[in-house]
Amino acid sequence: MRNITIVGAGQAGLQLGIGLLDKGYSVTAISNRTGEEIANGKVLSSQSMYDMALSHERELGIAFWDEKCPPIEGIHVRAGDAQAGAQLDFRSRMSANGQSVDQRVKMPRWMDEFQRRGGNLVIGEVDMAELERLAATSDLVLVATGKGDLGKLFERDAARCTFDRPQRAIALTYVHGMVPRDDFTALNININPGVGELVHFPALTHSGPCDIINIESVPGGPMDRWDAVKTPADHLALTKALIAEFFPWEAPRFANIRLTDDNGILFGRVTPTVRKSIGVLPSGRTVLGMGDILVLNDPMTGQGSNNAAKGASLYLEAIVARGNGAFDRPWMEALAEGYWDYAQWSARFTNSMLVPPPPHVMEFLGTCCQNSGLAHQFADAFNDPKSLSTWFYDPDAMGRLLAETAAVA
Ligand SMILES: Cc1cc2nc3c(=O)[nH]c(=O)nc-3n(C[C@H](O)[C@H](O)[C@H](O)COP(=O)(O)OP(=O)(O)OC[C@H]3O[C@@H](n4cnc5c(N)ncnc54)[C@H](O)[C@@H]3O)c2cc1C
Repeated sequence: MRNITIVGAGQAGLQLGIGLLDKGYSVTAISNRTGEEIANGKVLSSQSMYDMALSHERELGIAFWDEKCPPIEGIHVRAGDAQAGAQLDFRSRMSANGQSVDQRVKMPRWMDEFQRRGGNLVIGEVDMAELERLAATSDLVLVATGKGDLGKLFERDAARCTFDRPQRAIALTYVHGMVPRDDFTALNININPGVGELVHFPALTHSGPCDIINIESVPGGPMDRWDAVKTPADHLALTKALIAEFFPWEAPRFANIRLTDDNGILFGRVTPTVRKSIGVLPSGRTVLGMGDILVLNDPMTGQGSNNAAKGASLYLEAIVARGNGAFDRPWMEALAEGYWDYAQWSARFTNSMLVPPPPHVMEFLGTCCQNSGLAHQFADAFNDPKSLSTWFYDPDAMGRLLAETAAVA
């Protein structure tokens, strides 16, 4: 039986680990936190996930929250400012619903499931010396430690990185008490150009259905006031104040919000980073990265967990297809390039939302306000950002699409 070690027990690591157990591999997963610590700790993400990614969980029988988690049925995009209000406004259902299950709920449950299916879950912080030991005793070591320090083993791939510093100050707030929408549940995206974004959607947490608010503030801009926040109550108060000041069209829905719990807040900054896929240990042995280690996005478009799930599925297929062949460097490189072939489009989509849009994208977004077909195509891009690859970034291709749509309408 082939023996595989996965360092890091998050979306990427646990999903792959459970998939490998089902295929008859001997799997060890190592987490620096117990399930209880994760459950009782701070929120980790807003983890909105869409159909393609969720389908991988469903295939493995680990989509335990399909009945309980409120769906995300569509998107609603608005852009404007306090004086003029929302000048751009369109909405569309998605072809299939998304959902967001608090990772504090999901990961402890998956850890239990991993063990129930025969996996060896080890609790401990893996360092370089331990990684050497694991590489010497495993057929394959995968590193899925997200934003953890071990990521430094993987060299930054400068040619594939768009930014070298954070593009937003990011503040998450989990709340109860939102006024529901009166059409469909949605990924609500509000843009105040040059100032930042307010993104929010329904989710499931310890205390049941909730809403997650992500405020993305342009560094040094008028919403970047988070350093003064000292307590959960301050965090909630600033969230409400920024919504009232910069996204007033949304404010009535937030009038009576309260925190789901004092750990239902998070603040940080992410430098979008692409890393090379293989870590070389001092001994010369190699380990393969996955998930956030390889492609770390700003959470603006909610792609990281989706990438982690899609990547885990791709890795599972490739490991099984390898049979008894060596997990050598060429195999690792080919697999990681296969992942990049998809994940680059999530990075490009996200990065394009962090800078002022070029004129052809502005024209497209404006046209979505009158054209439900285009709005639907854009809504489905959150599920599959690669679907934008042939036209969204190319003014000529976009021009042709808009002309064809105008001719049909
Ligand atoms: C504010 C915010 C909002 C987000 N919102 C969304 C969203 O709406 N949709 C979406 O798709 N994505 C979102 N993401 C991104 C998403 O959370 C990540 O992309 C996803 O969790 C990555 O999965 P992963 O398995 O690679 O890493 P992680 O989920 O980070 O898991 C890594 C695990 O490894 C453990 N670990 C770390 N170091 C070690 C070590 N040395 N030894 C042992 N264990 C270790 C960690 O404790 C952790 O449990 C968001 C991220 C942030 C920060």
